[in-house]
Amino acid sequence: MADADPYQAQRQAMVDRQIAAMGVGDPAVLAAMRKVPRHAFVPDWLRDAAYNDGPLPIGDGQTISQPYIVAYMIEALRLRGGEHVLEIGTGSGYAAAVVAEIAGDVVTVERLAELADRARATLDRLGYRNIEVVVGDGTLGWPAAAPYDAIVVTAGGPSIPQALRQQLREGGCLVMPVGPDSYGQSLIRVTRGAGGEDQEEYLAPVSFVPLIGAQGW
Ligand code: SAH
Repeated sequence: MADADPYQAQRQAMVDRQIAAMGVGDPAVLAAMRKVPRHAFVPDWLRDAAYNDGPLPIGDGQTISQPYIVAYMIEALRLRGGEHVLEIGTGSGYAAAVVAEIAGDVVTVERLAELADRARATLDRLGYRNIEVVVGDGTLGWPAAAPYDAIVVTAGGPSIPQALRQQLREGGCLVMPVGPDSYGQSLIRVTRGAGGEDQEEYLAPVSFVPLIGAQGW
């Protein structure tokens, strides 16, 4: 019941002004951003700020990314529907929900069990059945469900983990913030080529919390 959602109008305005007007054009991404109730993924005391043009704290020193960046990164994955996707850095579970509106299913890895538990509860309550939240070091990927059609990393690391490249299907895209310092990074897209000939593109300057792990910081 969309009309029972008090944030419906704010969410549509968020998509119009912060996302579509800023250049994200993929209709599937815009539709997903119009649908997922971002306010359900932030702490209660921040509900009224959920549709603001910025990141918000979600506990444990972590953040839910700015709406525009979530949309931009997901558009960069070039999803067409039905894909098997890996996300590293579940956080609130919001980006996983947006991906799950487009893809076939999502495996999302979070290193902090408390955040993973909360995200799982939120996603269950909202009725997402195609997202699996797992706890672990996402710099090693999640080999049990590999290979993936697309991989998105929502924390910044010093380089692209080899494990993630190896778990990406040929032709698939991996999008990740990479940089020498733990808060300012470049968003990079890797397209997996035949025989390990990967193509790498610089997309945009970004600022993410650090990716902490064996192949991260
Ligand atoms: N996508 C999230 C935002 C992620 S913030 C959302 O939509 O809310 C980045 C998250 O990455 C944090 O929750 C942090 O704990 C997690 N993280 C950092 N290093 C990680 C690692 N090696 N494996 C899995 N998660 C990691």
